[in-house]
Amino acid sequence: MLLTRLLNACHHFPGFVYEGARLCEATQSIEIDVRPRKGSKPVCSCCNQPARGYDSLTERRFEFIPVWGFAVFLLYTMRRVDCRDCGVKVEALPWANGKHTLTRAYMIFLAQWARKLSWKETVQSFRS
Ligand SMILES: [Zn+2]
Repeated sequence: MLLTRLLNACHHFPGFVYEGARLCEATQSIEIDVRPRKGSKPVCSCCNQPARGYDSLTERRFEFIPVWGFAVFLLYTMRRVDCRDCGVKVEALPWANGKHTLTRAYMIFLAQWARKLSWKETVQSFRS
């Protein structure tokens, strides 16, 4: 089964597509490319309304829940929007908050473990 298929089953967001996954043996990580679905409008991070695309920024990495000891990263090229009310802003992403590099799913995952272990033990266990 493909990793992208698993992600679509458990971490699917309308307007975005998991394009492919590759193992990076040098860094012991799995990188998964994410792109906007064709025709989907970006959402303004200021007012959370769909807005016209403005341009693209550099690619960012968002850490997802590790699999079999491999760190998992979602790679996504952020877009900026030209919002009628707010001006040019970075788009809002459904899987991350602001400038955080962890996905919401991973933050929740770590928080659930931190209820059972100390934060220090949690961080050491997941090398996060
Ligand atoms: Zn706006």
